[in-house]
Amino acid sequence: FVSSAVTMKGTMTEKGEEAGLSQAEIRKESIQEVRRLLPIFPYREDLLAAIDQHQILVIEGETGSGKTTQIPQYLMEAGYTKGGLKIGCTQPRRVAAMSVAARVAEEVGAKLGNEVGYSIRFEDCTSERTILKYMTDGMLLREFLTEPDLATYSVVIIDEAHERTLHTDILFGLIKDIARFRSDLKVLVASATLDTERFSCFFDDAPVFRIPGRRFPVDIFYTKAPEADYLEACVVSVLQIHVTQPIGDVLVFLTGQEEIEACCEMLQERCRRLGSKISELLVLPIYANLPSDMQAKIFNPTPPGARKVVVATNIAETSLTIDGIIYVIDPGFCKQKSYNARTGMESLIVTPCSRASANQRAGRAGRVAAGKCFRLYTAWAFKHEMEESTVPEIQRTNLGNVVLLLKSLGINDLIHFDFMDPPPHETLVLALEQLYALGALNHLGELTKRRLNALDVNKGLAVPLSRYKCSEEVLTIAAMLSVNNSIFYRPKDKVVHADNARMNFVVPGGDHLVLLNVYTQWIESGYSTQWCYENFIQFRSMKRARDVRDQLEGLMERIEVEVVSCQGEPMPIRKAVTAGYFYHTARLSKGGYKTVKHQQTVYVHPNSSLFDEQTRWLIYHELVFTTKEFMRQVIEIDSAWLLEVAPHYYKNKELEDSSSKKMPRKQGKSKDELG
Ligand code: ADP
Ligand code: MG
Repeated sequence: FVSSAVTMKGTMTEKGEEAGLSQAEIRKESIQEVRRLLPIFPYREDLLAAIDQHQILVIEGETGSGKTTQIPQYLMEAGYTKGGLKIGCTQPRRVAAMSVAARVAEEVGAKLGNEVGYSIRFEDCTSERTILKYMTDGMLLREFLTEPDLATYSVVIIDEAHERTLHTDILFGLIKDIARFRSDLKVLVASATLDTERFSCFFDDAPVFRIPGRRFPVDIFYTKAPEADYLEACVVSVLQIHVTQPIGDVLVFLTGQEEIEACCEMLQERCRRLGSKISELLVLPIYANLPSDMQAKIFNPTPPGARKVVVATNIAETSLTIDGIIYVIDPGFCKQKSYNARTGMESLIVTPCSRASANQRAGRAGRVAAGKCFRLYTAWAFKHEMEESTVPEIQRTNLGNVVLLLKSLGINDLIHFDFMDPPPHETLVLALEQLYALGALNHLGELTKRRLNALDVNKGLAVPLSRYKCSEEVLTIAAMLSVNNSIFYRPKDKVVHADNARMNFVVPGGDHLVLLNVYTQWIESGYSTQWCYENFIQFRSMKRARDVRDQLEGLMERIEVEVVSCQGEPMPIRKAVTAGYFYHTARLSKGGYKTVKHQQTVYVHPNSSLFDEQTRWLIYHELVFTTKEFMRQVIEIDSAWLLEVAPHYYKNKELEDSSSKKMPRKQGKSKDELG
């Protein structure tokens, strides 16, 4: 069951060496050979003809057939990039954009970032020479701000359309609109074998080009009874496969980094115990925050005699194809964003995946040979407990940023925007209300300060940047918050060391100040990689924070706000954060923390420096739901500041503390401090 890619490399080496070719030439030859073996290759001419004939084409093909890597190359070869015009190809996931761009650059024989590049939030790996650009769907959306007609593009490919992310859905509406007056623009909507009729219908009955997949049969096995602990069940299943089944790699679907790390660790531990009784098992994780050199490892061919297990999030469902997978283990869950429009609370919840997802997952086992899929749930659950397909993200998310973006594109009538599936009415209304509370929209729903949208990641921090004379520090904090959950590295085998290292960064006042402290020390180290390594800090995240910071600073220059420092003094910083995030306040009362506006019960995240601190008033950066509703990144504030910074939002009464009698009265003192 060795994958076709590996076999081909083997034979090419022999042939190549006979012909006296250099290693590089051999590799290039074999890459071209592998390209010709992909299911899409026989359809190259028909596909190009269809693209030539139609402005908008929907392309449907089994995952791994070569849509993402090959179609843009065919277009380049056919001359669509003559005169410096670009081909853009969107991906819902950052990892997919990076990894696919790297692969295609290699296939084309270009250095990544030259002819072939990628652009993801805070990381632009393109140059003036770039003619093929892979990017997240969110990045193409932002390009509309600077180039509303996408004039430098000859082709736009909306890839992985079936994922129906929020940004992809918005792109559908915008691109359909510009295609009307840009008759020279080609639009390709590429999707796995799901939903293609709906895409065709939305794009005025655009034709569907189907690439027949090569799919081998996959035997599906269900458990007889529901599994109490699916992580444990995964580990046991992997080992069973390893011991009893013929050679072939295994793909396990879990919901997130923590689970994946735990699973990998359990697998490694048990293999260690079994020692030489079993053959080699390579355990490889893949998830969004994994450093990119580790991500690349999943594509390395498995050495003879060994077996590879890739433990992945649903990134491996359709975005990435790993050759050589014969066995799939599917616990049937995924992490999904869900949104409560009443409370404004967005949460990530582990939920059963849809039947469509489960079938995609199973399909991953049948790409190179007949495979097996082990579903860790019952056949009954598959039929009766899973939804047919996943609800589009636009119907379960906060729309704040999207509303801002559309408004700044001059689209004011959001109710009548051409949505493939419109968002719930109350979600739209709530987004408008929040933006009004922030001062980003006026009472007519018009954009007030255009500058806000450029800072939309941390839109809350934009307003008070200049007021408290600490913009230097606030910029750093905003940048660090934008990569918030990937600063501290906590490998399972060095938890104690990592936690100690983290404790060393703690300063009083809250997590924002801790992040500032980390960044400041990193500057003092001379932006050192070694320093990061020694302190269990992820260098890649720090580098990203630095990029973001540079961008924000550039923006400050453009809007002529002077960047000044408060020399790290915590008080003005805490006030600035309060001014930016006043609508994210929680108060400690008898039963624990409750959000001030909606009386929602919330908890300080165990990773926070204020965990266990009994701080009375907190501002949180975000709420996430895992096992409970957690506030992530919190900072201590004084309730008096809230009336000062957001008098239109809070009433005196709301901020009174029922239990405050026992507490020292702070009001008078903090008024002075406000200055
Ligand atoms: P599709 O978009 O139709 O799902 P792709 O174009 O992504 O298909 O994949 C085509 C082939 O390219 C697959 O065999 C896949 O394994 C290979 N491939 C894609 N990305 C990489 C990578 N980063 N490294 C090695 N092989 C890759
Ligand atoms: Mg693809």
